[in-house]
Amino acid sequence: MAEARNMKEYHGEIQEALDDAFLRKTLDKFAVEYKANRERIFTGIDVNGLIHEVAEIKDNAAQHMMELYEQFKTEAEKRGVHVHLAATAEEANRIIAKIAKDNDCKNIIKSKSMTAEEIHLNDALEKEGCKVVESDLGEWIIQLRHEGPSHMVMPAIHLSRYQVADLFTEVTKVEQDREDIQKLVKVARRELRGEYVQADMGISGANFAVAEAGVVGTVTNEGNLRLVTTLPRVHVILAGLEKLIPTVAEALHCIQVLPRNATAQAITSYVTWIAGANECATGPDGRKEMHIVFLDNGRTKIVKDPAFKEILRCVRCGACANVCPVYRLIGGHKMGYVYIGAVGLALTYLYHGADKARSLVQNCIGCDSCKNVCSAGIDLPRITREIRSRLIKDEGNSKAGSVMSMVMKDRERFHSLLKFIKFSQKPLTVKGGRFIRHLPAVLMGGSDQSFRQLPALAPKSFRQLFNSVVKNPANPKYRVALFSGCAQDFVYPEHLVAAVQVLNRHGVAVDFPLQQTCCGLPLEMMGQRETSLQVASQNVNTFEAGKYDAIITLCASCYGHLKNGYPELLSGSDDAYRAGMFASKIINFSSFVFNVLGLKEEDFIKSGDKVTYHAPCHMRNNGIKDEPRELLRMAADYRPAKEEDTCCGFGGTYSVKFPELSAEIGKAKVKNSVESGADIVVTDCPGCVMQIRGVATASDAPIRVEHMAELLARTMK
Ligand code: SF4
Ligand code: SF4
Repeated sequence: MAEARNMKEYHGEIQEALDDAFLRKTLDKFAVEYKANRERIFTGIDVNGLIHEVAEIKDNAAQHMMELYEQFKTEAEKRGVHVHLAATAEEANRIIAKIAKDNDCKNIIKSKSMTAEEIHLNDALEKEGCKVVESDLGEWIIQLRHEGPSHMVMPAIHLSRYQVADLFTEVTKVEQDREDIQKLVKVARRELRGEYVQADMGISGANFAVAEAGVVGTVTNEGNLRLVTTLPRVHVILAGLEKLIPTVAEALHCIQVLPRNATAQAITSYVTWIAGANECATGPDGRKEMHIVFLDNGRTKIVKDPAFKEILRCVRCGACANVCPVYRLIGGHKMGYVYIGAVGLALTYLYHGADKARSLVQNCIGCDSCKNVCSAGIDLPRITREIRSRLIKDEGNSKAGSVMSMVMKDRERFHSLLKFIKFSQKPLTVKGGRFIRHLPAVLMGGSDQSFRQLPALAPKSFRQLFNSVVKNPANPKYRVALFSGCAQDFVYPEHLVAAVQVLNRHGVAVDFPLQQTCCGLPLEMMGQRETSLQVASQNVNTFEAGKYDAIITLCASCYGHLKNGYPELLSGSDDAYRAGMFASKIINFSSFVFNVLGLKEEDFIKSGDKVTYHAPCHMRNNGIKDEPRELLRMAADYRPAKEEDTCCGFGGTYSVKFPELSAEIGKAKVKNSVESGADIVVTDCPGCVMQIRGVATASDAPIRVEHMAELLARTMK
């Protein structure tokens, strides 16, 4: 678990993970296989519909959490179960320790439970003199190593069979085979059998606590849970209040998604329903002593917080880690505290406090992949941004944040600053003035940017060029406005010039409202909520959306933020209606050209250029997949690359905050693009252009980078 107290220590921890070659290889392999297997297991299923239903079921359950608790208690007590409610982690530990003491239990066997990890239950019971043995294979391994889980479903994914064999040799005092995994599994089975027999108490978790029947449901693969819950004379179930669900039918609905999303299985090996204290030869009155402890630990407060309540939908499938580019590099020990991956960032803040979460929540690139894959449709990136903004609200702004906010909230001041930088950058430029010379990290705020060549500001911004390039048709088919974003207005105006040429050529009249400013996403990423709201409001009031058929952007990040972020941010404000109107007109350039203009192969001179594609996160995670690829097939010789659909590592300010991670992701992207056999990587976002071109240039990789608009302008008839 990440224990860093500040960013400096956290960078040290990250480097440790990056230096672990086995971890890197394992997580890489897992990420690729998971994606393919998940796609296969959901084939023919309306996955989005199913996710939507799970979200509704879980939202409704969370809203009625305490009523469901009372109903569950009544029903479970009828079945001879003792039901407890613990307000805090400490109280839950106390209750369980007392149950052990009252029943004279010293030997405890446990099945995997993230809720038990959340409250550090094993430590608490061991302090009371109990022996606690984990029975899930992965959990047993990490318990022997005195570690926390590195994945919620596969807790020992970070270990090689050699490490496990050496560990088992140490534990059993017998030399173990380092190659044969099946033999190692048998060792664990043999060692654990004795523990089951000796145990007086079994502790398990729960996937569902069904209120209508007072029944608990679990979804597992190893079979150890069945032994834990049946053999010992006392059974304690520990469950978060969010596991309460009204009906069995609703639990079954969630099970259609949970195993598919977790391990790409249609169903796990065991689905177990525990309906009360059953017969037990060694129990009092011939029955098992059974307790269920529900844990609050902030959950009843979270459900009342509109910004956080959807986190209670989480079914702990772990998919948000499986697709996360950051988790893929550093694993759960460095991307989490107890809970790991994307959901771990949020749950660490909510259950373990700001101190544990402060550095961790910075480590999200904002790619939206977790949101796109979540079993319950939780908008995890939004929640992470919300946490950053609350940290600033509670603890005050950083110097960098205050300066950034001050500059960005005033468009004229911001643009004047850019003009000043443009004139003063000259002595620092290289390669014909297109790039900035590498500067020592100390001059870059401590961020080592040597992995990429940063671009210089363009000699003329797009806003200066617009009137000289636009040639609007007399009788246009469509009237559109361009939303430029900062990067294309000031760094890559050529993308926008190319877009205007394509649009004008195909009968579209283009307007460029000059009062527009930054979309505000970089401010959101830094937790600068107040200023982010101000710029959002400024933009929706600048574009009189009703005047246009569409508002086109060539930046994927702006697209995602304008389309989804604005209506959410401005809901409830005076600008809510305008924000909705504005968002409804937002479309990205490739979709407009392909879907609205309907360009065909005959509209292009098939250039013969060998091109590959990089799919920007905020396009593919908003469902835009085929349009750009179809355009590439029409205009050039398209060579698909490996992992086109993974992040390039840019993430705006992320690449400055975490250059070591941004560099690794960027290098993998360049390598895959080169290996496709293409000469050009085409993409739909200036941030991705900056990152991929920057990394390719710094490493002299034999590949060029172009925006889609440039390729289309160059190849249109
Ligand atoms: S948005 Fe991307 S980087 Fe951030 S937690 Fe989700 S998957 Fe990871
Ligand atoms: S947040 Fe979503 S994807 Fe992540 S563990 Fe929870 S349900 Fe699964």
